[in-house]
Amino acid sequence: MKKSIAISSAVLGVAAAVVILSSQTTIFGDLFNRLDNKAPASVGSSQQNQDSSTSTKATDSKGNDTAGQTDDKEVAAASATMTSSQAAFQAFMHENSPALTVTKNAGGKDIVTNMNSPLVLVNKKRELASTYSPNDLVVAKVTFSFSGTSPKQQLRAIAAQALEKLFAGAKKEDIELAAVSGYRSYVAQKSIFDNYARENGEDEANTFSAHPGQSEHQTGLAMDVSSASVNYNLDESFGESKEGKWLAEHAADYGFIIRYEKGKEGLTGYMYEPWHIRYVGVVVAGQVKKDNETLEQFLAKF
Ligand SMILES: [Zn+2]
Repeated sequence: MKKSIAISSAVLGVAAAVVILSSQTTIFGDLFNRLDNKAPASVGSSQQNQDSSTSTKATDSKGNDTAGQTDDKEVAAASATMTSSQAAFQAFMHENSPALTVTKNAGGKDIVTNMNSPLVLVNKKRELASTYSPNDLVVAKVTFSFSGTSPKQQLRAIAAQALEKLFAGAKKEDIELAAVSGYRSYVAQKSIFDNYARENGEDEANTFSAHPGQSEHQTGLAMDVSSASVNYNLDESFGESKEGKWLAEHAADYGFIIRYEKGKEGLTGYMYEPWHIRYVGVVVAGQVKKDNETLEQFLAKF
């Protein structure tokens, strides 16, 4: 009996943590990380809790073996946890719904208010404030297409960690990916867009480059990825390469989506970009991929 109480406490502890995390979007990344490690198959599923309830050799919160048998108490505790997890997930998704996460600035532009969330939606209609930069940027420890150091090697910590796992997973299958460009500040994006606009005109530039504030790269959650096989180019040829095909197939397993899909230009506002991946966590990434939706479509459902 003592053992099952220990297990139940551990399970309930997880439930409590989930509920607490759900109300603190800035640290909700921890849940995303934990979910990433467990890689649940679908929204609302909770593999971790199922493990605790059905395993004959569970571990307690300190990682010690507690060798409990499944009993009614554990099942009840686990199902309570799953209900809490699902409720927390729904609540978190609702907190991040596009309609609730935008405010008009003095210039009449729609500015996102959940800029620190891994589910922030940035596009041509929803901008990041010019003053926003993430406070947890780190250099991703992956292969880059260039040598030396650059701010664009950075991602937010949660996305960098996921990217490192993605690249390691690719390498195991003899797929050599190269990161090309990650975080980009508002000022850097302004400089890039202004240059394109000078060369191509603003309307043309806007089909392949983003106005400052409208680039996902400012979130620190997006990375452009290519490969030596296409000379590290960021164009549709990457999508046809074996590396690009691997990325499209497996990015979601690590919490990333191909953000600008073929045939979705009208919904995302951008041409097909097989190289641009965006971190959203494995739960959302898996659903977006399975349902063949854009992030805009998926988030609007909550
Ligand atoms: Zn990009």
